[in-house]
Amino acid sequence: MIISADFSSPNFEDRRNKKKPYILLLHYTGMKSADLAMTRLCEPASKVSSHYVIGEGGKIFQLVDESKRAFHAGISYWRGEEDINSVSIGIEIVNPGHEFGYREFPQSQMDAVADLCADIIKRHKIKPEFVLGHSDVAVKRKIDPGELFDWPFLAGKGIGLYPSAQHGAQNRMVADVQKMLAAFGYKIEITGKNDEQTQDVVTAFQRHYAPKQLGSGLNPITVGALVDICGQCKINSSPFGGGANA
Ligand SMILES: [Zn+2]
Repeated sequence: MIISADFSSPNFEDRRNKKKPYILLLHYTGMKSADLAMTRLCEPASKVSSHYVIGEGGKIFQLVDESKRAFHAGISYWRGEEDINSVSIGIEIVNPGHEFGYREFPQSQMDAVADLCADIIKRHKIKPEFVLGHSDVAVKRKIDPGELFDWPFLAGKGIGLYPSAQHGAQNRMVADVQKMLAAFGYKIEITGKNDEQTQDVVTAFQRHYAPKQLGSGLNPITVGALVDICGQCKINSSPFGGGANA
């Protein structure tokens, strides 16, 4: 992995209270061109920076030393910490973003992102649940790197988390709902699948106990009504908990 030192940013300071980085925060640059983004990240007046920038072709630039506090997160929060800049390493990934023509991140760029992330994670022992997007730590204020970013690709390389067992979790949830419906009295098989018989029973349940949801399928309001009804008749069956039966 080659890291270019062709650019550097004066926009950094010491990490506050001697905090160490345990978050890896990914961004997109969100500007018309890579040049404009680089200029902004390196000019003193902007007061923004990141430790790294990765071009669309996969070239990696380091602007700020990892030991320093770069200015990329802004007002942010994660697990009780509000000074995300002091506890993170920031990577800006070149992409015009939602404002200037949001597009797929090329594979050559994603490969470089993966290489750099893997290296940082190893050196700083960053846990997978602390590999985050700007949109995670600045909800509503920021939306980068966005829904086109290839988080599954990174997770496949052990970088960050992604729900690979998504369907397994959904099946468990359906099974728990089926168990509640059965415990309450409906004739239903526990299949773990949102199959036809389940949809029929859910519709029957809605017709009596949640008429406004009729025909909308297995949705949170219907499940909430089911939990409430089961609670009223002391049927002790909890959805989503279901560890013992999972
Ligand atoms: Zn950002």
